[in-house]
Amino acid sequence: MSTPAETAPAHVAGLVRDFGGRRVLDGLDLTVAPGEFVALLGRSGSGKSTLLRVLAGLDDTAAEGVSGTVEVPGSLAVAFQEPRLLPWRSVRDNVRLGLHRDDAIEAAGRALDEVGLTGRADAWPLTLSGGEAQRASLARALVREPELLLLDEPFGALDALTRIAMHDLVLDLWTRHRPGILLVTHDVDEALALADRVVVLDGGRIVADHAPGPRPRHDTSALRATVL
Ligand code: ADP
Ligand code: MG
Repeated sequence: MSTPAETAPAHVAGLVRDFGGRRVLDGLDLTVAPGEFVALLGRSGSGKSTLLRVLAGLDDTAAEGVSGTVEVPGSLAVAFQEPRLLPWRSVRDNVRLGLHRDDAIEAAGRALDEVGLTGRADAWPLTLSGGEAQRASLARALVREPELLLLDEPFGALDALTRIAMHDLVLDLWTRHRPGILLVTHDVDEALALADRVVVLDGGRIVADHAPGPRPRHDTSALRATVL
């Protein structure tokens, strides 16, 4: 049921996902236009990760209890709250793993430069801080040049200052590469600070769709100059 989208936006219509007879997604409709930054808010257990997993192709959509239309672009990438780096591979190898191109090593190096991890390519993942590991996770997503970037609470486990630095990084990457982004978060301030559109998932459907207006919505430059 998952088919490549013709014009690259992600599009979900009438998506139903049951788990053991319990309906988690109940005819959900959502479109992320090319280059659009959408934040998905919702209470814990509302089905945010379930939706992301369907979009990412990580759910078994042939299973009983799944129906609806799902269209995603040919290239997408995912980052989770846990960076999920393989501990026995260098940071660079984590980023280039599964990348089928001749210049994979160079591309991984460039992606690591872009997320501010220059000089850490040969490090072992366990020696990275939480923020650095999440940067590596973003580099691993970025190197795939995704048209759609799916982020599942990627900053949820980080301290507040590191989170602000990551917000700046994601906005910077989005501005430069313009993937469509679907960012799952339960942090309202984060959603409002980053996204073009904030949608709210409740009862298995999108119940609110809000455009916060032009950026920047909060100016962290003075703070950054002193403490970050
Ligand atoms: P959120 O990410 O919004 O916190 P989830 O999408 O992880 O919520 O989960 C939504 C609901 O679906 C939860 O009640 C969860 O227990 C249930 N669920 C998610 N994945 C599975 C699964 N593989 N098997 C059974 N229930 C699941
Ligand atoms: Mg979740």
